[in-house]
Amino acid sequence: MSGKQQLRILVPVKRVVDYQIKPRVNKALTGIETNGIKFSINPFDDIAVEEAIRIKEKNKNLVESTHAVSIGPTKAQDILRNCLAKGIDTCSLIDSMDKENIEPLAIAKILKVVVEKRGSNLVLMGKQAIDDDCNNTGQMLAGLLNWPQATNAAKVEFLDNGRVQVTREIDDGEEVIEAPLPMVITTDLRLNTPRYVGLPKLMKAKKKPIEKLDIIKDFPGINIEPQLNTISIEEPKTKPPGVKLNSVDELIEKLKEAKVI
Ligand code: AMP
Repeated sequence: MSGKQQLRILVPVKRVVDYQIKPRVNKALTGIETNGIKFSINPFDDIAVEEAIRIKEKNKNLVESTHAVSIGPTKAQDILRNCLAKGIDTCSLIDSMDKENIEPLAIAKILKVVVEKRGSNLVLMGKQAIDDDCNNTGQMLAGLLNWPQATNAAKVEFLDNGRVQVTREIDDGEEVIEAPLPMVITTDLRLNTPRYVGLPKLMKAKKKPIEKLDIIKDFPGINIEPQLNTISIEEPKTKPPGVKLNSVDELIEKLKEAKVI
């Protein structure tokens, strides 16, 4: 393993409305209805967790630590426990103190402080959170840290010369890039399939400590107030139902009626 640096991996994970739930706009038309709704780890973050654990399992001497961090409500403990049950070593909850809609720049600034405090040299995170679909935080964090970034990763390999090779999903196919540590990598869907974690491991993880931090007291000087105002939010327009046709002639007739041909 000459040339390879010991990895201190940080995995930021966000608690979001479960991907199987169809989101509904709330009655006040100010956001998504969250009462009684199932929340889970952001799916791309689950892939990042899986990748961190696989790197650790494959290269026992390469990984010094794996740490998960979530900025969110107290309930975000659940997704952190899940990370511990799967094999992440330690974790922290940065309590958002009921502040909602903390934007990517503020999250990136908080994560930068976490990276610096922990001496992390690899951040593995989701390419986007499925609630805001911003796809901003990883890029902003890399910018703030002045680290190289590899977004939309489909494959991550550690080379003998200490560099990291990442295969990225791009519109035309795949792109392979390489950079030295420290770096930020954001995950895409094809990177891996996250493992399922059973009840015994979850029960065991309940006994593990979760470091608790306060977004205001422990991160002074970071403005977490939203910089964007939501003007309105509405359900997507429902499409009129389609019609089933029995022949090509009928299709041509309909297209003529619609003045398409
Ligand atoms: P976004 O830029 O909001 O689409 O989020 C991209 C990634 O940033 C997510 O997949 C997470 O890895 C990370 N992230 C965003 N918000 C949070 C949060 N509140 N706590 C921890 N990680 C977060």
